[in-house]
Formats: sequence, C-alpha cells, structure tokens
Amino acid sequence: MGVSLPRKDLFEIPDGIIYLDGNSLGVLPKGAAIRATRVIEEEWGGQLIRAWNSAGWMDLPRVVGNRIADLIGAPEGSVATGDTLSIKVYQALDAALKMRPGRRVILSDDGNFPSDLYMAQGLIGTIDKGYELRTPAPEAVVDAISEDVAVVMLTHVDYRSGRMHDMKAVTKAAHAAGAVMIWDLAHSAGALELDIAGSDAEFAVGCSYKYLNGGPGAPAFIYARPDIVEGIEPALSGWLGHDAPFAMELDYRPAMSTERLRVGTPPILQLAVLQEALTVWDGVDLSDLRAASMRLGDLFIAEVEARCPELELASPRDAMQRGSQVSFAFEHGYSAMQALISRGVIGDFRAPDVMRFGFTPLYIDESDVIAAAEILQDVLETESWRDPRFQTRSRVT
Ligand SMILES: *Cc1c(COP(=O)(O)O)cnc(C)c1O
Repeated sequence: MGVSLPRKDLFEIPDGIIYLDGNSLGVLPKGAAIRATRVIEEEWGGQLIRAWNSAGWMDLPRVVGNRIADLIGAPEGSVATGDTLSIKVYQALDAALKMRPGRRVILSDDGNFPSDLYMAQGLIGTIDKGYELRTPAPEAVVDAISEDVAVVMLTHVDYRSGRMHDMKAVTKAAHAAGAVMIWDLAHSAGALELDIAGSDAEFAVGCSYKYLNGGPGAPAFIYARPDIVEGIEPALSGWLGHDAPFAMELDYRPAMSTERLRVGTPPILQLAVLQEALTVWDGVDLSDLRAASMRLGDLFIAEVEARCPELELASPRDAMQRGSQVSFAFEHGYSAMQALISRGVIGDFRAPDVMRFGFTPLYIDESDVIAAAEILQDVLETESWRDPRFQTRSRVT
C-alpha cells in the first residue's frame, strides 16, 4: 500500500479551478517555486560557475533520469534526460534505423502525435536513402509489421482518444519480425504502471511536463535498453554525450553509458524544478494510482453520458484499454471547451472536434469529476458556448 490519494496539499491549485488538463501541462508542485528560487539565488547567484560541481548540476540529468527510470519500470542508469521530446524521438529513431541497415521502413500509426511523425519525416529527408514512413490505423499496426520494417515507433497512449496499445504484445510482434521497438510514453509516464524493461523494447521516450508535473518546457527523457547502449551511434553527437567532454578532443567518442544520449548543456533550472516535482511520487504505489485513474475516468463517462446527450464518447469505454484521459466528440467542441474553462473547469481541445479531459489522481478526486460534469451539463443546456467570445481560436487550443 502506498500513500493515500489524492495528495492535493502538495500542489498549488488555484481556488475555484477543477484542473482536468494535467495530461497536457501538470500543475505546480508546492516545492517547485522554492527550489527554483534557491537554484537562481544561491546556486547560480552565489556559486556561479562553481555550481556545476558544487551544486551537482552536471549530475542532475542522470539523477533525475534515475527517478524517472523508477516510474517507468527501467533499471538505474538507463534513462537520460534533457532536450525536448521531439529531439529524443529523433535520437531514438536514428539509432534504431542504424541497428537495421538493410531495412527501409519506419512503421508508426495515424493516431500518433504529429511531432513524432514530423521528426520521422525530417530524419528520412536528412538521411536521404529512400526510407519510408508508414502510418496505418492504430488497430492495423500489428498486421503491418512486415519483414522490411526497421523500426516500429508508437505512442503508447493516444493523445486524442486515450486508446492504449498493448505494449508487450506489439513489442513481441515487432521483435518477431526483426524490427526495433520505440515507445513514446508522453501520455503514459506518471499515468500508468509501466514495465519498460519487461517489455523488452529497445527505446522509450517521453516528456516530463504532462503527468510528471515538471513545468512548461521541462526536459524530456530517453530510455535505451542497457544491452544496446554501447552500440548506439548518436545522431546528435554533442559534447556532453562525449566520453570525456572536458578533454576537449577534436573527435567525437561517445560515453560508454546512456550519457551518450545527452547532447548539450542541460537546462538546470528546469531539471531542478522537475527533480522537486518528482518528490510528489515518493511513496505512491502506481497500481493504486492506476486504479484511481480508472475509477475517475469511468465516473466521468457515466456522469457525462447521463447529463450531456450531445456528446459522443471518443475514448475506449473499457478502462483497461484507456490511458488516464477521457475524450468526447462534439461539433462545437472548441467553443464548449472555452465556455467550460470560463467556468473554472479546465480541459482542452484537439482538432477536429475532441474535448479532452485528463484525470490525475494525485490532485483530482471524485467530487471534482462530478462537479465538472455538472458544469459541463449547464454549459451545454444553456448553450452558453454560443457567446461570441468563445468562438475565436487562440494559438494554443
Ligand atoms: C506532448 C507530446 C509531444 C511533444 O513534444 P515536445 O518536443 O515536448 O514539444 C510529442 N509526442 C507526443 C506523443 C506527445 O504526446
């Protein structure tokens, strides 16, 4: 048994707000601001460049990587942190392609997050050796794993619908066909119990500003299966992935560990905030978290379906098939979400018509779920979303 959930007292949640968007940007953990101030004033301000050693800045990517490794079921030393998820996708993909030089196909699915597909397209253009990206429907991916597939790159939990791939089964199918497996855990890390090592996948990547509450622009992470690390030829061969960065050698020579997946100077402020944010997981049993997340999602579906006949469920009904979010399709979804946000219930919208709600059991409970459904019902019944101020789209939806 872990600590009991939720742990609202560990977070700054503004009064009157029900926050159902922790799957996109997690809330601020209470210790984060104090930590950021300390890093700025005492470490940067007081110790200046000495802080790389004296405040442990240079080790921070590894230390934080180990805490994330714990949360995704990976062994110590197998997770590097830094950069953004898009960059980590690129690194993993390039490394995977080099592991299968005779094959020319990257297999993903058409539900994947666009940036993952865009990075694949960019990499294909850079390599310029006739690689091809295939994106069948998520349900058709396993059947599409043919002998010409070099790498299967999938996002475990679909960002729009919350539909989940069967990590073990897909990885097994990829390996049976001789392909390398990459999992994107953007919507899984901190949302579910994960056993990355047990899945046997070669790579996993993810970000830390969603369920891990690391703050906007928080560093991403990359896992490489320990037995393949020393064979990886990094595409982004920056000096901090070098075996001896301060030897200032002219030629790149990768570190003999996951550190070779580091690139340049780590974002210390963000890493420190993330390290602090990760302390909210101390004592949390991820199976308790998952059980709570499934309960909250089921409750939301039941409440919304009973109250809002206009909305159509756009997520798997079976909680076992779903990550920690529930989506509903509605023609006027963008305006309805803006109206809902104006009433203090924050979710988000994904084109073309998806209203998305994330359930983060660390700081959301059943009374929040019921209150959110009540307010949603009111927005739809009164058609308050028709107000002109809810019609113009902002840059970020
Ligand atoms: C959130 C998300 C991203 C975002 O990538 P960044 O480089 O961090 O902006 C990429 N891929 C997936 C699957 C995501 O969910």
